[in-house]
Amino acid sequence: MPAETKNFNVKTDPKLICTCGHPKCDKRSVKQWVLCQVQLMRNDANRPFTITSAGRCPYHPDELHRIKPADHQNCIVVDIEYETIEERNEIMVLAGRYGATAVAYGNGFVHCAWRVLDLDDMRVRTWTY
Ligand SMILES: [Zn+2]
Repeated sequence: MPAETKNFNVKTDPKLICTCGHPKCDKRSVKQWVLCQVQLMRNDANRPFTITSAGRCPYHPDELHRIKPADHQNCIVVDIEYETIEERNEIMVLAGRYGATAVAYGNGFVHCAWRVLDLDDMRVRTWTY
């Protein structure tokens, strides 16, 4: 079952699941508990979020190069669209407020991931694309 919350579902937010179109695609969804954190972010921002990518199967074009599964294949990330720098900053702050542990941005999106951390290395990960 695709994850769903008050403001997010696969009909209005098709990128919650993999949409790569590969014949072997399992259409995997972002995990429910991750989308619940995104809903809390959205409640706090009090504005709509556009999801540009979340769950991805191993056949997704952006996953083919990987040796081991990362955030999208593990279904612990949502990429949220931004238009202005202020929106980008807001999303990154809210991601941290609701427990995201790997936060990065690219051109027009913020990658908000909830990786489970090692107890002996609790550092938040950040990067840019
Ligand atoms: Zn796929």
